[in-house]
Amino acid sequence: MIVVMAPNATPDQIRDVEDRIIGWGYGVHPIYGEERTVIGAVGVPEADKAQYLEQLERLPYVESAIAIIRPYKFVSRESKPESTRIRVGDVTIGDTGVVMMAGPCTVESYELTMATARAIRALGFSILRGGAYKPCTSPYSFQGLGLEGLRILQAVAQATGMAVITEVMDPRNVETVSEYADILQIGTRNMQNYDLLREVGRGHRPVLLKRGMWAKIEEWLQAAEYVVLGGNTNVMLCERGIRTFETHTRNTLDLSAVAAVKELSHLPVIVDPSQGTGRWSLVPAMARAAIAAGADGLLVEVHPEPEKAVKDGAQSITHEGFVELVDACRPVAEAIGRSLV
Ligand code: PEP
Ligand code: MN
Repeated sequence: MIVVMAPNATPDQIRDVEDRIIGWGYGVHPIYGEERTVIGAVGVPEADKAQYLEQLERLPYVESAIAIIRPYKFVSRESKPESTRIRVGDVTIGDTGVVMMAGPCTVESYELTMATARAIRALGFSILRGGAYKPCTSPYSFQGLGLEGLRILQAVAQATGMAVITEVMDPRNVETVSEYADILQIGTRNMQNYDLLREVGRGHRPVLLKRGMWAKIEEWLQAAEYVVLGGNTNVMLCERGIRTFETHTRNTLDLSAVAAVKELSHLPVIVDPSQGTGRWSLVPAMARAAIAAGADGLLVEVHPEPEKAVKDGAQSITHEGFVELVDACRPVAEAIGRSLV
C-alpha cells in the first residue's frame, strides 16, 4: 500500500506512520518530497490490509492510504494467466466455443419447457435454462414452481440429453438445487448475499454469478472470490445489464465489462442479452455484440409464446426467433475464430 502524508505533516508525524507500519511487521519505503512525503509499505497480507488502510486514513496527518494490489486474488488473471475451463455435459465453457444456454425465464409447465428444450436441442445446443425459484421485485408476482419446477427441468433435461442451469436463492436450498441442476445461477439481486456465495463455494456444482445491477466490476470480482475461496473454482461471471439513467431499455448491457473482466480475471464471461435489454427485438443484436466483445457464452430467454409467458415475455424470443438469433450469431463467432456450441 501507499500512504500519502498530508502536505503539512511534520517529521515526527511521518516517523509515527513509519513506526506503525514497521510495528505491523512490514517494510517501509519513504519518498521525502519537497511538498509531501509518500510512504510505500510492502508485505502487507491481504487479510489485514483493509483494516490498516482505514486506521492510517483516520490520522489527521495522512491524506490518503491506497491499496496497490487488487482486493481479489484467486479470480485474478495475475494469479492464474490461463483461462478457467468448466466442463458441463458435452461442452466446455471458457474454451474456444461460445456456449449457448437458452430456455424460458421461468418453468411454467412440463409441456412448455419440453417444447422449448426440443427447439434448442434441435439446433445442437445442450444447456437448458429455466427458473424454478424466481427472485421478484414484487412479492405479488409469480415466485416460481419451486421443487416442482426443478423436477420438470430434470425430467426435460434427461429426456432431451441436456444439462440444466437454474437459480438458487437461498443457502438452505443449495444442496437440493444441486441435485437437479448442473449449473447454479446466482441472480443479480443476490450477488452480495455472502452466505449464499459461501454455500455454493462449499459445493461442487459450477456457479454462474450474475453481476449485481448496481455492482462495480471490482465488487463483482470480489463476490466471485467468495465462491472460489470456499473451494469451488468452477465459477463463471454473467453480465446482465446495470442500472443507469436510461429507461428505454430495462437495463444497460455493459459490454465494456466483458472485455474488462476478461483482462482482469481468468473466469469465463457469459452475457445475458434478455435481462440486459428487456426487449426481445434488441436481443439478437446484443447477442452478436456480446460475442464480438469476447463473451464465452450467452444466456437467452426463449418461450414458445412469449405473449403468454408468466414472466419476462417482453424480453423473450420465440422458437423461430431463436433460430434467427443463432443464424445471426454464427458468422460473428466464426469471424473471431470461435464457434457456437
Ligand atoms: C433470470 O435469469 O431470469 C433472472 C431473474 O436474472 P437476473 O438475476 O439477472 O435478473
Ligand atoms: Mn428472466
